[in-house]
Formats: sequence, C-alpha cells, structure tokens
Amino acid sequence: MKIVVPIKRVVDPNVKIRVKPDGSGVDLASVKMAMNPFDEIALEEAVRLKEAGKADEVVAVSIGPQQAQETLRAALAIGADRAILVRCEGRIEPLTVAKLLRIIAEREAPDLVLAGKQAIDDDSNQTGQMLAGLLGWPQATFASAIVVDGSNVEVTREVDQGLMTLSLTLPAVITADLRLNEPRYASLPSIMKAKKKPLEELSPEELGIDVAPRLEVLEVSEPAARKAVRMVSSVDELLLKLKEEARVL
Ligand code: AMP
Repeated sequence: MKIVVPIKRVVDPNVKIRVKPDGSGVDLASVKMAMNPFDEIALEEAVRLKEAGKADEVVAVSIGPQQAQETLRAALAIGADRAILVRCEGRIEPLTVAKLLRIIAEREAPDLVLAGKQAIDDDSNQTGQMLAGLLGWPQATFASAIVVDGSNVEVTREVDQGLMTLSLTLPAVITADLRLNEPRYASLPSIMKAKKKPLEELSPEELGIDVAPRLEVLEVSEPAARKAVRMVSSVDELLLKLKEEARVL
C-alpha cells in the first residue's frame, strides 16, 4: 500500500501572530513556521501503518514556497520515504491545492491519501473533501481511528452523538483529527538520514494547473479584546450579580 500525505507549512501554532497594519493578512515576516499539526498526525499514522507492515511507501507532498522544503525534510525525518514539493508563491486556495494533489495522486497512484482535517492558518477544512470529489474516491473526514484490512479501511469519527464507524474501499481519502495519535519527535539520526532521502520539485505549470486565487480577501482583523473576568465566591453571589448588575434574571 502506498500512502500520500499532503503537508502544509503554516505559522508555528505556538507563535503569537499579528495582523498586518493594512488588514490585508497576517504578518509572516520572520515568523517561525512549522508543519500543520493535523498533517503531523496524518504523517504519524501513515508511518505507523508502514511500521505495522500495512504500507510499503509514504510520500509527503507539499504545495508552497521553496522554504516548504524544510517542512518536507522534517516529514522525511519522521519517516516519509520521499517527498514532492510543488513550488508556489503567495496564497494558494484549497481548490487549487486539491487540483494539484489530484494530479499527484494520478501520477503516484496511491491507495490512500491521508491529509490533515484542516490547516490551522486558513481553517478551511476543504482540501481533503474537494480532492476526494475530484478523484471520485470515497472519503472519511475527522478520523480518530483507522484500521486497514486488505483493500478495506475502517475509519472511526467522533461525532456529536458518539462514535461513527465508516467502512471504505481503497483507494480513498482520509483526513486526520486530533485524537488519531500523538506524533513522535524525529531523532537526530533520522534527521541526518532524511537529508539523503529524495525530494522532487515540480511547478504548477508542469502539472497544468493555474494557481491564481479566485477568492478575494477583503479584510483580516484581530478578534475583539475580551472583557475582564470577575470571580465570584458562591452561587448566591453569582445570582445576586446576575440580578442586580447584569439584570438578566
Ligand atoms: P484546508 O482545507 O486548507 O484546511 O487543509 C486541509 C488539509 O489539506 C491540510 O491539513 C493538509 O493535509 C492539506 N493541505 C492544505 N493545503 C496544503 C498545501 N499547501 N500543501 C500540502 N497540503 C495541503
């Protein structure tokens, strides 16, 4: 089984981001970048499937600037066998990513595309779904458990009412949720080994895809500052404040 793992380079989730003064987006100048956390989880799952003898090859794919090479090297250190970078500058929309991934999927013919459920920078939660639609493959989103059995895969999803289990036939697209696993840290020897693993570079033109955005971002703004919180010492005090100060009772 071959698994393709799409990996996005995003702002490190531990960094406090700032909106540009002109409101055109988030200021990315000299901000620490990292692998999208849900993609780390997807990659970890793919590597575990390989370690369990269920998969033979894991291919990490990123669409982004030249620097996304570093993110792909990190994926190779965690256990991907090879990587592909489709070099694109600027904002790339989920539909464009899905179209590029479709071409890669047609070239690579994987049994499984295991993506993150969403990129934490744009919170779109669209790419996996669009890719499955474009490929005409079954999809299971928000996976919290994946069991591969031959050409079938069972995916558990956490839904409001409890757990939902879906059965899919491969090839399929699955997107990873937070509780699927806990990703490992790459060891120093594997970081060194990753430097020698193959990393292919392609351009969207070679793949015949126009990457020009179709959506216009009108404005990006900071969330409103939260009001100060006051602690109360008892339910009686809370009721009193709700009656006399907030006047909602
Ligand atoms: P999104 O639909 O943007 O929230 O992204 C969902 C998932 O699609 C991510 O977790 C990644 O697995 C994949 N993805 C999105 N953008 C990219 C990209 N530029 N390069 C590679 N994978 C991506």
